Amino acid sequence: MVQISNSTVPSSLSSDTSNNSGDAQSVLQTDSKSDWQLVLVNLNNKKSEMNPKLVNIGNIQMDARIQKNVEDFFTAAKAVDPKVHLISGYRSVEYQSHLFSSYVQQTMTENPSWTEAQATSEVMTYSQPSESSEHETGLAMDMSTVDSLNQEDPNVASQIAAIAPRYGFILRFPTWGQKSTGIEYEDWHFRYVGEANAKYITDNHLTLEEFLDKLSK
Ligand SMILES: [Zn+2]
Repeated sequence: MVQISNSTVPSSLSSDTSNNSGDAQSVLQTDSKSDWQLVLVNLNNKKSEMNPKLVNIGNIQMDARIQKNVEDFFTAAKAVDPKVHLISGYRSVEYQSHLFSSYVQQTMTENPSWTEAQATSEVMTYSQPSESSEHETGLAMDMSTVDSLNQEDPNVASQIAAIAPRYGFILRFPTWGQKSTGIEYEDWHFRYVGEANAKYITDNHLTLEEFLDKLSK
C-alpha cells in the first residue's frame, strides 16, 4: 500500500497544482480513503485475490464504493456516443488467469512459429497475468463503442477520456504511458482513483505509476 504523506511530497508537486486550488490538498492528504483509491496492481505490484465488495452495474461488477461514479460516468459517456457500452469490470484472479492463458493460446494459434514465451510477451502488451491486472481491484473497467482493440472513433475516445476525471476516473493506459506502465495505448480501459487524483493525473499527463512515484519522493 502506498503511503502518502505531506512531509514527503516534493515542493515541485505542490507548485504544479497552483491552477487547481483545493485539489492539491486532497491529492496530498494522507488518509485511508486515498489508500484504496490509489491501490497499484501491475507486474511489479502483484496482489492475490482482493475480494472487493461488488455491485452489479449492467453486465459488469464493480467495487460497490464507486457505484455512483461508474453509473454517472457511463451515463455521461453514452451522451457522447450512444454506442458506448460496458465490457468488463471486476475479474477474479482465477478468471484473469484463464483469460490470459486463452490469449496466449490464441496468439500461438495465429502465429504457429512463435514460442510460448514470444506469445506471452505479445499478450502482455494488452493483458496481464493473474495477480497483475487491476481489474481484480473492482476499480477498473473497460468501456467502448466497439469490442475490438483501439478501434473506437478517436474523437469519441478523446471526449470520453476528457470527462472521466469528473467521475474520478483516468484513462489508465494513455498514448504516452507505455514507458511507465508497460502497456500500449488502450482507449477503453478506465481506472477509478478519486476525483482530485484523477484531475491531477490527467491535467499533468501522468500515469498512475508516475503519480505514485512522485508522491513517494
Ligand atoms: Zn481493461
